[in-house]
Amino acid sequence: MLPSQSKSSVLPVVGGRVWVPFRNKKVVGVVVELVNFADVDLAKLKVIHRVIDTQPLFSQQQLAFFHWASQYYHEPIGNVMLSVLPKRLRMGEVAEIRGETCWALTEQGRLIQADNLAKNAIKQRAVFTLFQKEYKCGRALLTGSVFSKQIEHWQAPLKKLIQKGWVQEKQGTCLPEKLYGTPPNHRLNSAQQIAVEQVVAQLNRNDFGAFLLQGITGSGKTEVYLGMIEAAVAKGKQVLVLVPEIGLTPQMVARFEAQLQMRVASLHSGLNDSERHCAWHLIRTGQVKVLLGTRSAIFTPFKALGLCIVDEEHDLSYKQQEGFRYSARDLMVQRAFQEKIPVVLGSATPSFESLYNVQQGRYQHLQLKQRAGKAALPHLKLLDIRGEKIQEGVSQPLKTAMKRCLEQGGQILLFLNRRGFAPILMCHECGWQARCLGCDANMTLHLGKNHAYLQCHHCGEQYPEPRACPDCEHAESFIKVGQGTERLHDVIQNWFPEYSVLRIDRDTTRQKGKMAELTGIAQRGEADILIGTQMLAKGHHFPNVTFVGILDIDQGLFSADYRAPERMAQLIMQVAGRAGRAEKQGEVWIQTHQPDHPLLTTLIAQGYDAFAQKALDERLNALLPPKNYQILIRAEANDPQEVMSFLQSLKSGLMLNWQKMRDTMAFSSRSLPELDCLGPVAAPMLRRQGRYRFQLLLQSAQRNCLHALLAEMEPHIYKSPLSRKVRWSIDVDPMEMM
Ligand code: ADP
Ligand code: ZN
Ligand code: ZN
Repeated sequence: MLPSQSKSSVLPVVGGRVWVPFRNKKVVGVVVELVNFADVDLAKLKVIHRVIDTQPLFSQQQLAFFHWASQYYHEPIGNVMLSVLPKRLRMGEVAEIRGETCWALTEQGRLIQADNLAKNAIKQRAVFTLFQKEYKCGRALLTGSVFSKQIEHWQAPLKKLIQKGWVQEKQGTCLPEKLYGTPPNHRLNSAQQIAVEQVVAQLNRNDFGAFLLQGITGSGKTEVYLGMIEAAVAKGKQVLVLVPEIGLTPQMVARFEAQLQMRVASLHSGLNDSERHCAWHLIRTGQVKVLLGTRSAIFTPFKALGLCIVDEEHDLSYKQQEGFRYSARDLMVQRAFQEKIPVVLGSATPSFESLYNVQQGRYQHLQLKQRAGKAALPHLKLLDIRGEKIQEGVSQPLKTAMKRCLEQGGQILLFLNRRGFAPILMCHECGWQARCLGCDANMTLHLGKNHAYLQCHHCGEQYPEPRACPDCEHAESFIKVGQGTERLHDVIQNWFPEYSVLRIDRDTTRQKGKMAELTGIAQRGEADILIGTQMLAKGHHFPNVTFVGILDIDQGLFSADYRAPERMAQLIMQVAGRAGRAEKQGEVWIQTHQPDHPLLTTLIAQGYDAFAQKALDERLNALLPPKNYQILIRAEANDPQEVMSFLQSLKSGLMLNWQKMRDTMAFSSRSLPELDCLGPVAAPMLRRQGRYRFQLLLQSAQRNCLHALLAEMEPHIYKSPLSRKVRWSIDVDPMEMM
């Protein structure tokens, strides 16, 4: 309810924030609509405490997008808005964020020499020459801190220069000034050119259009993005580029800025609150044209969005797996549709969803089939390790091949998707294994820098390594089973003492800036052997890597998850893509106990496309996504019985409602497809953090029926007393069954 006019003359605006009373506190809310009637009792309405924004932060169209997301993912709009607002704005801070005051040479000032100043004006000369010097290095705007570092008492002489009309004061943005690098200056090859032209044509039509840009690793997709971005920016439009959460954003920003010669804003997990606020503000007000961001950047309001790009669109990090479970890639397509602009999904190994959309004629297919420049595709080889001698997970032939490669001066990348020292710590006397107390999972042993510890990779719980077996009390009886990257590093360093080994995984890159530091070492070829998890597999450009060894991928062939083969193939191709990216031909060896597995042999012999065709057909025949649509309802609690009853009663409600929907006019029984309601069943990992987890899977050939059904049920779920005893969530288009 509006505050009475006498109290406040500032009126709320749709899309602006207000302080409102909530329980005993005041909280920030966003005005979604102004109405002059209410469904609830007037006495129950509360008065808006204070208006924060007098101008909207979000346009009607942006609000419509948030509403769509709320409905599609069955997430309350309040939670959606929490993802939308940067923390500072959720706390009620002013939306405007101003940068430091800066000074720059005027037109006139740029034409003048320091000699034009009087000989005895020493300070003025110093200030003026500093401007000239910095200008030559590409820094036109100088802040007070720059002066303070070099010149004492710079304020008065600066003022004199301003009076002369040689220098002017400017309001800098919150994004600090910086130097742009020099772009590589490639000429786009014809495949790249065609891809750019297709999208630019759509851009000029001012209409929605979805494109799948499928370009093999090293084919120069980044160059294609940049071509499109230049065209969009030239039209006065802004561009949103989503990238996976793998610590590559800063490098990519630098690459973009070099090409575009303009500031590029970024939003990713490495930023602090004020940096986030700044990027958000500059994009919203149109001061910066290009935003490069990870998943949650999808919600950033733009002043004039004209083009959307999702790099590595198959990447799992686009799916938020907790809380508000959305897919940023899918939302990007919806956003582009609502804003009537083109969207480009890029990948060397597209998701089956996107390939299916191409088959269905919903997406246009753009392909880059050759590597750019001089690089050739690496040669892939399945290494049959059945019966081979294996030491620490590395087979004898692989070890020999590594030695040969090193002797020829090559750089090696070894891929093992398991961090830590050993995944199992076992007592040799009694068979005890270190398990997580809260989860159905083993604790992974980490040796760490100073002290060894056990860590659960599912809930994060840590304990020091026990000195004696908790069961039989034998000391020193432990055996460390299996390999993690930490162990592999030690082993490899032992085998090849004269070469340097570098491990890049979550544990070695935890500190801010560490990722860039380590990948820099790898890139410059200063480490001979790189060992890494999937963090190292994606997107990186290591020009010197000529040999890639993949140690352990067989589990992808036997997982219960129907998406496992797709993930395995994507991972193999992405890791393989790190090899031979410069002049030297690359080689990729994949250790396997299943050298005859049809999916694996198709992938190796015929490539990702042939593999995807085969595996996608299997999925379609089994009526699995992308053929049918799924919604997964998860529930967990300390008492498994309560979870089961919750899901059971939910299931009967759903079935009943489905029947009702069949009987109504809205969905005549002929148009209403079958509903599969599978479960409740135990989650693949039954217990996590002490809670028992079960799930119910809904599947149907028609998406809107599923959504209608769930929307119908939702109020009942919230009202059910059981729903307060269990933690439950709805996962639309689930990517993982965990
Ligand atoms: P992708 O993202 O498709 O794996 P990148 O965009 O990283 O590939 O490009 C791979 C390499 O090829 C980069 O070093 C890039 O500078 C280079 N490159 C891209 N396009 C061209 C081109 N037209 N001519 C020469 N080199 C190119
Ligand atoms: Zn024991
Ligand atoms: Zn755990």
